[in-house]
Amino acid sequence: MTDLLEHQGKHLFREAGIAVPRGELVGSPGDAATAAERLGGRVVCKAQVPAGKRGKAGAVQLVTSPAEAHDVAARLLGSEVGGHRVESLLVEEAVAIAAEFYAAILNDPVSKGPLVLLSADGGMDIEEVSATRPERLHKLAVDIGAGLEPGDALALTRRSALPAEAVDPVAAALTRLYHVYRDTDASLVEVNPLVLTEAGDVVAIDAKVSVDTAATPRQQQTLDALPGVLPAEPGTELEREAARLGLQFIELDGDVGVLANGAGLTMTTLDAVNHFGGRPANFLEIGGDAYTKAIPALRLVLSNPNVRSLLVNFCGAFARTDVMTEGVLNAIDELRPDIPIAFSIHGTGEREAIALVRERLGVTPHEAMDDAVRAAISAARERQEVAS
Ligand code: GDP
Ligand code: MN
Repeated sequence: MTDLLEHQGKHLFREAGIAVPRGELVGSPGDAATAAERLGGRVVCKAQVPAGKRGKAGAVQLVTSPAEAHDVAARLLGSEVGGHRVESLLVEEAVAIAAEFYAAILNDPVSKGPLVLLSADGGMDIEEVSATRPERLHKLAVDIGAGLEPGDALALTRRSALPAEAVDPVAAALTRLYHVYRDTDASLVEVNPLVLTEAGDVVAIDAKVSVDTAATPRQQQTLDALPGVLPAEPGTELEREAARLGLQFIELDGDVGVLANGAGLTMTTLDAVNHFGGRPANFLEIGGDAYTKAIPALRLVLSNPNVRSLLVNFCGAFARTDVMTEGVLNAIDELRPDIPIAFSIHGTGEREAIALVRERLGVTPHEAMDDAVRAAISAARERQEVAS
């Protein structure tokens, strides 16, 4: 998940036609003062970190002069907010707020599609609204094929007890928000608060956009075009590298490297390693792409310095084990790992696959998966004893 910074989310909002306050991104107290001057003196200085609840942490400050903006910026820049170092501030013209709402669109695990959330109780912790006044949080499940119809957005807005003048502009903002959600492959787009100003406009005061990690390759252009620096994705160096390659990789603390096809078989393999007293070194999902992705996949597994043996577990149905095995053998040829490798190969193409392993590595795949698992575990253990 890539959580965009507030100002980056607002950049996307502005492009989609959602009103946001005028503002400037700054990296020094001097620039904060200059921006405040240009924006009329009365501004809000907001720390740009990929974390929520900045208001409570004192990282959102309303000031009334450029000199004050300078002082606040000097205090916030370089400080830690929500576990992140503040590298930049968004200086925005202060908005006179008449009412605060909550609006969000997220991937809903229950309806298995987009869910629009809207509440007239914005500005505060939405989990609290959901827990204490659930009837004030209105929801609309969207058919992802049809998208959010303007009529449905309006109906949702009508039943959400908003001030009358906010109904139409909030409905319009929701449909635009939906476009941002859809076009960026977001898993979450959240505006808290979406406000009605004293002047009667509806403006997004905050912006949270989380782009699905699996979509980052195809969103690269959009992400590259954003102003400022993208926050680092969470995870280890190797995990981020894997995400860039379109592979799902999680480093674990064991010593048996695991290469299997499909997430289900991989989980089963990890369970088996644990069951027989071993400790897996990684989760890696390569799907049926083991042939084309074998080299980067194996490189990831072997980059973990704790790996002492490798367990290759292929089970073919639609995916052909001979094709996957050839990919892995090519990767082994190139990377020449200096560790024992145990194979278990079953299903479509297994005869050819097993012959390939024998021919190219002089190793015979195990008949039973359990035996391959046990072999990989004891090989890792022997290596540990040698090392210590
Ligand atoms: P968060 O705490 O990280 O969610 O940061 P927000 O961007 O939501 O800001 C926190 C709070 O500051 C908001 O809920 C508003 O109440 C307040 N705030 C932010 N910008 C303005 C502004 O322009 N004018 C006023 N009056 N309040 C603001
Ligand atoms: Mn907020």
